[in-house]
Amino acid sequence: MPIKKIFTHSAALLALTATSFSTLAQEVNIYSFRQAFLIEPIMEKFTQETDIKVNILFAKQGLIERIKREGELSPADLVLTTDISRLVKLTSQDLTQAVHSEVLNKNIPSQYRDPDNQWFALTTRVRNIYSSSERVGAVKDITYQDLASPEFKGKICTRSGKHPYNVSLIASIIAHEGEAKAKVWLEGVKANLARKPQGNDRAQVKAVKDGLCDYALGNNYYLGKMLANPKQVSWAEAVSINFPNQKTTGSHVNVSGVVLAKYAPNKENAIKLMEFLSSDVAQKMYAEVNYEYPVKVSVQPSKLVASWGTFKADTLPLAEIAKQHEAAVKLLDEVKFDL
Ligand code: FE
Repeated sequence: MPIKKIFTHSAALLALTATSFSTLAQEVNIYSFRQAFLIEPIMEKFTQETDIKVNILFAKQGLIERIKREGELSPADLVLTTDISRLVKLTSQDLTQAVHSEVLNKNIPSQYRDPDNQWFALTTRVRNIYSSSERVGAVKDITYQDLASPEFKGKICTRSGKHPYNVSLIASIIAHEGEAKAKVWLEGVKANLARKPQGNDRAQVKAVKDGLCDYALGNNYYLGKMLANPKQVSWAEAVSINFPNQKTTGSHVNVSGVVLAKYAPNKENAIKLMEFLSSDVAQKMYAEVNYEYPVKVSVQPSKLVASWGTFKADTLPLAEIAKQHEAAVKLLDEVKFDL
């Protein structure tokens, strides 16, 4: 299993001082699908502010299965992850518990938290349509629906339809337009692909740069990451970032988020940490380090991200979109999207 670190993060030169015996027990355990470069600095800040030690288990996969296996004895207090589908999976498998927190309810808009308080989003990310700056230019009025129209024939690149980012996008189309219309749309997009779905989001932008296609689906933060990477900056500079559906339903937004584990041994500290993650300080760090959008409305995105302009996000609650995930996967199979 690709676990990179096992509880190596002991930020605290935690004073085993005179304070009190209970200081020793002040800790919280995290299972994190999110990467160390992003999460560790935020946790260090939390420990500085609260004296609560944070232990983190990082892994790219297998954490949900692990919590299940560990059952009541699981040391996990919190799970940090990207993608609404993982948050919903944790909840639907009864691995979470509700959190009733005024702070979380105040900081996180209702469309970005579970109606039953089982999961909470911490950041949002837009599913953008990138266009070739040279051959197309910026297309401010573009819609996801446009990608199925005949004039886009042979011009679109995307990663696998089955990737959670695309499954959520397709689920949002189903939620808005119904399954029958969504299927026609998905067939149209497939007919317009320049090549079989492959690679990750950045590879699609590279393909635009290489002239293989004119349009690529990709999350917003990858543009920031490519601009910061000397090997990829030329890919990023070859595209314009467009926020789809501005005159209609708004751009599709996915999230990263957090759940409180069902058997969390350090529940009180875990809730303190959840609240910290929704606070100005942590929200700003997410924005600056990873080019994501803060979920807390009053916190600004990074300067670079802000320079891409403001946009209207789809207002459909994520919980509604998540209900269509299975239908989206079924459609992908029916139209043989990846084949
Ligand atoms: Fe990503």
